[in-house]
Amino acid sequence: MAVFSRCSRAATAAAKPTAAAATFSYLIRALSPSFSSSSSTLDPETDLNCNKPAALGTLKREPKGRNVQWVFLGCPGVGKGTYASRLSNLLGVPHIATGDLVRDELASSGPLSSQLKEIVNQGKLVSDEIIIDLLSKRLEMGEAKGESGFILDGFPRTVSQAEILEGVTDIDLVINLKLREEALLAKCLGRRICNECGGNYNVASIDIKAENGRPGMYMAPLPPPPQCASKLITRPDDTEEVVKQRLRIYQEMTRPVEDFYRSRGKLLEFDLPGGIPESWSKLLRALNLEDHDDKQSAAA
Ligand code: ADP
Repeated sequence: MAVFSRCSRAATAAAKPTAAAATFSYLIRALSPSFSSSSSTLDPETDLNCNKPAALGTLKREPKGRNVQWVFLGCPGVGKGTYASRLSNLLGVPHIATGDLVRDELASSGPLSSQLKEIVNQGKLVSDEIIIDLLSKRLEMGEAKGESGFILDGFPRTVSQAEILEGVTDIDLVINLKLREEALLAKCLGRRICNECGGNYNVASIDIKAENGRPGMYMAPLPPPPQCASKLITRPDDTEEVVKQRLRIYQEMTRPVEDFYRSRGKLLEFDLPGGIPESWSKLLRALNLEDHDDKQSAAA
C-alpha cells in the first residue's frame, strides 16, 4: 500500500506545472515538430465507446503526412515489446521502450544508476520526471538522426504521464494488448534476453487447458537462434515476487491510463489469442495492415 501511495505522490507532483518544468519543456521541444503541426482527426463525440477507434480508418501509416505515433499498453509479460518491435520494422518508425531506456541508464553506471536499480528491482515505477527526461533525450537523439513517428512501449504508465504526452503531441492510436492472466507470470519468468544483441526470447511453454466453456490456449516457447543461445540472461526484475508486484502496480497506476485513452476514442482493445503464430496476422487485420503481412513474414 505504501508503495502505491508513494507512486501516486510522485505522479501528482510531476503533473504540477512547477515540478520539473525544465524537463517537460525538454519533452515539448523534442516533440515540437508534431506538436506544431498537430490537428486532432478524432472526433470524441462520434468516436467514444467505439470498439475500433475511428483513427484506424483514416490514419493508418501516415496520418497528416507524418509517421504514426502509437502507444502500446498492457500488463508486464503481455508481449508489448515483441509486437511493438515487429510493427516498428513494418512501418519504419522507431520502437521506443522506456523500460529499455531505464535499463540502458542502469547499465551506464551514471549518477542515476544506483537509485534506479533499487526502484526497478523492487518492481516500482521510476518518477515521471526521470522517465520524461530519459524519453526526451531519446526523442531528441532520434530527431537529430532524422527519425519521425514512434511506437511507444511502456509509456505512458500513469495518468499524469498520459496528460503530459497528450499536452505536447497527438497520439493517433493506443493498442491495449490483453492476455489471460494465467499466462502473464509464466511469460515473465520464462523471458530470456541475449546480453549481446538484446534479443528477447522465451523458454516458457504455456498450455492452458479448456475449462468451464473457456477455450484452452497454447503458447510455444520462443527459442533463441544458435548465436544467442549461450548468452542468455534473465532480467533481475523477472522474479516471481517482483513480477507480482509489477502486476499489482499495473492495476493501480496504469489501468486508469486505459480509461484515459478510451474516453478519447483512441483505444484499440486486442485480446491475444495465443503466441505469435496465432496473434500476429490477427493484430495486423485489427490494424488494417493485413496488406503488409507477406512483407513481414518474409522478413521474420
Ligand atoms: P514491464 O515488463 O513491467 O512492462 P518494462 O521493461 O516496460 O517492464 O519496464 C521496466 C521497469 O522500468 C518498470 O518496472 C519501471 O520500474 C521502469 N519504467 C519503465 N517505463 C516506465 C514509466 N513510463 N514510468 C515509470 N517507470 C517506468
